[in-house]
Amino acid sequence: MPSSHYDVIIIGTGAGGGTLAHRLASSGKRILLLERGDYVPREPDNWSTRAVNVDGKYQTKEQWRDKAGKPLHPHTNYGVGGNTKFYGAALFRLRREDFGVLRHHGGVSPAWPISYDELEPYYTEAEHLYQVHGARGEDPTDPPASAPYKYPAVSHEPRIQQLSEDLTRLGLHPFHTPLGIMLDERNRPRSRCIRCGTCDGHPCLVNAKSDAHIVCIEPALGHPNVTLLTNAYVTRLETNASGREVTRVVVERDDQRESYSADVVVSSCGAINSAALLLRSVSDRHPRGLANGSDVVGRHYMGHINSVLMALSRCPNPTIFQKSLAVNDFYFGSPEWDHPMGHISFVGKLDGVTLSAGAPAIAPGWTLDLMGKHSLDFWLTSEDLPDPENRVTLDREGKIVLAYTPNNGEGHRRLVAKLESLMQQQRACQIHGHECHQGLFSRNLFVGQQIPLAGVAHQNGTIRFGDDPATSALDRNCRAHEVDNLYVVDGSFFPSSGAVNPALTIMANALRVGDHILDRLGAKASALAASASAAGTRIGTTAGATA
Ligand SMILES: Cc1cc2nc3c(=O)[nH]c(=O)nc-3n(C[C@H](O)[C@H](O)[C@H](O)COP(=O)(O)OP(=O)(O)OC[C@H]3O[C@@H](n4cnc5c(N)ncnc54)[C@H](O)[C@@H]3O)c2cc1C
Ligand code: SF4
Repeated sequence: MPSSHYDVIIIGTGAGGGTLAHRLASSGKRILLLERGDYVPREPDNWSTRAVNVDGKYQTKEQWRDKAGKPLHPHTNYGVGGNTKFYGAALFRLRREDFGVLRHHGGVSPAWPISYDELEPYYTEAEHLYQVHGARGEDPTDPPASAPYKYPAVSHEPRIQQLSEDLTRLGLHPFHTPLGIMLDERNRPRSRCIRCGTCDGHPCLVNAKSDAHIVCIEPALGHPNVTLLTNAYVTRLETNASGREVTRVVVERDDQRESYSADVVVSSCGAINSAALLLRSVSDRHPRGLANGSDVVGRHYMGHINSVLMALSRCPNPTIFQKSLAVNDFYFGSPEWDHPMGHISFVGKLDGVTLSAGAPAIAPGWTLDLMGKHSLDFWLTSEDLPDPENRVTLDREGKIVLAYTPNNGEGHRRLVAKLESLMQQQRACQIHGHECHQGLFSRNLFVGQQIPLAGVAHQNGTIRFGDDPATSALDRNCRAHEVDNLYVVDGSFFPSSGAVNPALTIMANALRVGDHILDRLGAKASALAASASAAGTRIGTTAGATA
């Protein structure tokens, strides 16, 4: 068994924990990473739509419950790199306005305790660390950035380029989705990424996706002061008698109970599991759950309002890598609707096999296979608002219960209607004229079941940060108000969720909190110098990099 006292323990190795580990690794401080899952195996099934989307081979088999007590199989993954092993690597910044109060049709999206400007340098760093490929200046809603992307935008294939031109002709501002994939289009034979059709939702067989495992954990483990334990499930955090300090991290590993301690303990289990961990860690000093005097832990769960919509055309869509285009023109509203609506982008190209897992209404005269060959597969995201009754709790056996009532749906409905009308206004095709567009079909994303709540990919908000300990569990540095050495750096800290994918914000915040922890440990200067030189080496040697 490894020795038991460390400078820092990080629980979870996903977007938050992995990025933090990378930030702290070069400090020389003794760091223990505890990860409940194992490495995702590298095998041909990584790129099998049947194994991934129909059989759910890599998903947790865990069962939660919904508020009615019905079983809920969450669409989430436990392993080194967390959900970033499976993400689509679309790495967006929140808009500057998302950090302030925004009035929605369904209520108010509250302000964050920090401003966009405070996070901005870390967004830039996170974009460089995760090798984001993009083009600044195309999206008018983009917030200001202190540096350009280091890597050129991923190009559109012809069908997506045609859509981009059609949308531009209609007065919109389609832009290249910022993507963390190690694609070098100027040197395809040597590019690490081969631009395949199974990126979104799949692990990358050739390790060319910028996930937290490849980009952060592997380099961190190159430092002798960093230790990773896999299959190490943290069951409970225990404190000293005053309740102000975590003194024991209790772990189940290989059916054994182990315990570790550290000067600083960071939970980064994902928004649902971090809340569950704190709720499990009840004690006399923390009777409602650790660091939960405010009673906000587990509450305000958000996961976005997400739709997958297939726009069917008589003409085929032969695109392989489809996720290169996005539209934010309706993010804050439209000329007819003065409330935020959301974000339009793409999922990976759907095929008949994937469609069989959550079959959409079949269009008359079409098979699933044909629909897959002829569809543009859009991903629409709108903001859901923080409701204290949307929450994570534990049942009597300690299992997760996720209660959620959707809210703020009108903007999303209008976004769907906008997309439908835009698709009808595309240029008439030479073969089928305006009859080419066959309509929009929604597709249920979730393997083997029809429960939208199971789609917890964008989970956030359950341990919100804020300046007031009565209404937040974490302070502005993501340290628990009530426990001096406890931090949370996954998606839990969001007080509101915006309407773009969350991972880049989680990564940038982990770098920000990392600097605070380094300061606290008196290690900042040496770590930054070392990580700057490591970054130089990394960028120089990455096959896909095209600075
Ligand atoms: C299919 C899919 C596609 C996505 N696409 C995108 C995208 O294109 N862009 C984007 O921005 N976001 C995307 N996301 C969301 C993104 O992956 C998440 O926002 C991000 O990974 C969340 O980071 P996190 O650190 O909060 O949690 P995670 O990345 O989930 O990491 C949590 C880690 O904690 C571990 N853990 C949990 N409980 C315990 C415990 N008790 N003990 C020890 N370890 C524990 C887990 O195994 C996991 O490794 C996608 C997600 C999915 C599933
Ligand atoms: S090769 Fe490229 S496109 Fe394919 S999974 Fe890997 S990163 Fe994604």
